Amino acid sequence: MNLLLLQQEDLLDSHTALLTGRQHQHLKTVHKKTTGDQLKAGLVGGLMGSAEIIEQNETRTRIHLQLEQSPPPPLPLRLLLALPRPRMLARSLEHLSTLGVKDIHLLQTARVEKSYWQSPELKPEKIHQHLLLGLEQARDTLLPRVHLHTRFRPFVEDELPGLICDTRKLVAHPGNYPQCPRGLNEAVTLAIGPEGGFVDYEIEKLQEQGFTAVQLGPRILRVETAVTALLARLF
Ligand code: SAM
Repeated sequence: MNLLLLQQEDLLDSHTALLTGRQHQHLKTVHKKTTGDQLKAGLVGGLMGSAEIIEQNETRTRIHLQLEQSPPPPLPLRLLLALPRPRMLARSLEHLSTLGVKDIHLLQTARVEKSYWQSPELKPEKIHQHLLLGLEQARDTLLPRVHLHTRFRPFVEDELPGLICDTRKLVAHPGNYPQCPRGLNEAVTLAIGPEGGFVDYEIEKLQEQGFTAVQLGPRILRVETAVTALLARLF
């Protein structure tokens, strides 16, 4: 935990917060923080800064806050991600949140197992928890928005055109395609496929919407590795 991330309900007033549960335990037992110690803190959706522990006992920690700093700028990216298997989804969400992706669209595609949509990892509270862990890691306070699309074609034909105007549209797809561009200074919509990749029909439908297929070389990367490699190149 590189940032103590507070929710509105943790605040007693604009400069004081009371921690119980996971964050209290983490501060006390993992970070061994005690009265008088300083740490970095932020308010979900708000400013970041410093906190000083002003009182601590077995069950709670009270802190004084000085929050004056803006969170880091988000990546100018909308990500379309074929729904990964549940264990990978949890890691990917945390990872994307850490990397500064704020707009995540999880998508059904031909090679996504339908049963993945029943996973408890897709419950709003689980998604929220993974995103918070990612923000704490990165030192950021702005929660990504996660949208679920259980049908590929209606999403791509009906919803996608309204989302992607004025962005550069790329789909990562191994094969004989141009190399993924580097160091872009513009908003991007990026599509990343499932473990089995996109099928031809899906690539064609995305191309109809103005997407260009790009590749990262001959090595086939796991989804979460591909995400990092793609974002590092693009931005
Ligand atoms: N067998 C699949 C294929 O050939 O498409 C591999 C899928 S890969 C495990 C999952 C996703 O990561 C791909 O659909 C693609 O979006 C991205 N990816 C992985 N390696 C890539 C590469 N070398 N170039 C472009 N995209 C890649």
